[in-house]
Amino acid sequence: MLIGCHLTISKGYEEAAKQALEVGANIFQFFSRNPRGYASKDLDMEDVEAMNRILKDNNFGPLLAHAPYILNFASHKPRIYGMAKGILAEDYQRLNDISIPYCTFHPGNHVGKGAEYGIERIVDALNEVITGTETTILLLETMAGQGTEIGYKFEELAAIIKGVEHNELLGVCFDTCHVYSAGYDIVNDLDGVLEEFDKIVGIDRLKAIHLNDSKMELNSRKDRHARIGEGTIGLEAILNIIAHPSLKGLPFYLETPNELGGYREEIELLKAAII
Ligand code: FE
Ligand code: FE
Ligand code: ZN
Repeated sequence: MLIGCHLTISKGYEEAAKQALEVGANIFQFFSRNPRGYASKDLDMEDVEAMNRILKDNNFGPLLAHAPYILNFASHKPRIYGMAKGILAEDYQRLNDISIPYCTFHPGNHVGKGAEYGIERIVDALNEVITGTETTILLLETMAGQGTEIGYKFEELAAIIKGVEHNELLGVCFDTCHVYSAGYDIVNDLDGVLEEFDKIVGIDRLKAIHLNDSKMELNSRKDRHARIGEGTIGLEAILNIIAHPSLKGLPFYLETPNELGGYREEIELLKAAII
């Protein structure tokens, strides 16, 4: 099984790969740059190569980058919109340069302008960022629907994908906490939710899972992650998710509130359950 967690690359890529080994992961997620600020580090190719050796020697699966949360690709404000596009374009380029297979991002917030307007803005932004020569796949993350978030309905994700010219470079990252908060009952009707996803978006678009429990109820539209088995989704439903025939081969990235020790425990628990 492909299982890992979110790790920091503040001490470099090689250090992150070592941390992944320490927690028993064979994949990991990292921020494409400091999530709260805008500074991006220049690439240290020696560091990247050192990481790649570790990944190869230990049969790692695909790494997933996460674009900064603060970017809003649906904004009507030229400065915010321009900054979002500029930063994604820069990070996307860098991730392509080091052959990272996936980069997930939060589609955006329409801040009162309406979902239709927001979707149009997101489509236009992606049509600028994706030139068609890239290899890194950009993943739209399924959102909880907090505030004016776009992408909490499968129809919205499908509409974005449909509008993007080079949508062969687009996929979806399915966040279990977000999807549940958005009102999709993955606890009592996982089959039904995945069938709906397949009908509206297409199951082939699904490239990665953010495996999180939730502190909030179904349809709460609130984004609060919980540790595995300690939330409203619960261990049984989480185990059904990782074993589901439509999801089984996908990479599962934990974004649970944990230090490294907590991640190690959760990864151990999940690996033991699947064998
Ligand atoms: Fe996210
Ligand atoms: Fe997530
Ligand atoms: Zn979240």
